[in-house]
Amino acid sequence: MKNYKLLTPGPLTTTETVKKEMLFDHCTWDDDYKQITQEIRRELLNLAHVSEEEYTAVLMQGSGTFGVESVLTSVIGKEEKLLIAANGAYGKRMVSIAEHACIDYTLYEEDFDKVPCARKIAEILDGDGRITHVAMVHSETTSGILNDISSVAKVVKERGRTFIVDAMSSFGGVDIQVGELGIDFIVSSANKCIQGVPGFSFIICRRDKLMESKGKARSLSLDLYDQWETMEKDGKWRFTSPTHVVLAFRKALDELKEEGGIEKRNERYTQNHKILIENLAKLGIKPYVGADVQGPIITTFYYPENHHFSFQEMYEYIKERGYAIYPGKVTDADTFRIGNIGEIYPEDMVKVTAIISEFLKETN
Ligand SMILES: *Cc1c(COP(=O)(O)O)cnc(C)c1O
Repeated sequence: MKNYKLLTPGPLTTTETVKKEMLFDHCTWDDDYKQITQEIRRELLNLAHVSEEEYTAVLMQGSGTFGVESVLTSVIGKEEKLLIAANGAYGKRMVSIAEHACIDYTLYEEDFDKVPCARKIAEILDGDGRITHVAMVHSETTSGILNDISSVAKVVKERGRTFIVDAMSSFGGVDIQVGELGIDFIVSSANKCIQGVPGFSFIICRRDKLMESKGKARSLSLDLYDQWETMEKDGKWRFTSPTHVVLAFRKALDELKEEGGIEKRNERYTQNHKILIENLAKLGIKPYVGADVQGPIITTFYYPENHHFSFQEMYEYIKERGYAIYPGKVTDADTFRIGNIGEIYPEDMVKVTAIISEFLKETN
């Protein structure tokens, strides 16, 4: 099959060196392997700007959703209630998780091109004393909007509630002061901005909140406290761990450091995004969300106007020329998406926008 680069929000194009790590079948019970797990857990705390005294990192088998489901089904007790602020499909996925696990919840929904409002969240919390937890997405990958977790964290913390953030597509690509904001649980996964391969998610937890959750889990495999308890002893995973993915992830963390950390990675993604927006604007292709709330991770674009446009045709055309893009996911408009993350550089954005320009010329 002809190779192509992924301009999608995960899995992403990774480096050869990250992929090469997976050629080794590592044993899981020996000290070398357990040390790798512990190193990864420590490094994740560094990236989140938190101390080992206050926070701890838990790795969980499965894709990103498993991590979100693990938190929601492990830390919200039978007598407790969750507020979900949603402005996209990933926010709504939390609703679905709550439904499946019979978690008592209330939903505050925003349009897909608007960020959830901290003032409204404050009003909802003040009006319902039963709400104990608030959950929201940081980078809503459905649209590419970057939600204002700082303002929300403030009102949630002022009211003494627990704050859960799905930072799946932003952690490692957008700097998040987890400790300063007082986020209690933040979830991301191996195959997004850290640029590893798919296979596990990770959760950075405030220790006291994690301790409080003991015995609350509604699932065996996704029991966050149990997973932590086993892992905390010496780095052993509770059930079979995705060894190849773990080795690749450690390498990906090294490469993030070599690139200059989150700040430099963010600069590259931002640069990718800037070129994309500017070059597509010249072709009359406009972004779906406003520039003031647009994040650097992925961008949703309206179909070009005055053009007999077929996404499938454009997708095939671009793929033959070396890139895979993403269909739209918003529900109220015809859109497509292009991701800026992974082993992708400004020259890739110059190339892909030139390919799109050629496609529009040829099909007009
Ligand atoms: C990728 C992503 C997830 C997890 O999706 P999986 O397909 O389970 O890996 C969750 N939330 C957001 C915001 C995401 O971007």
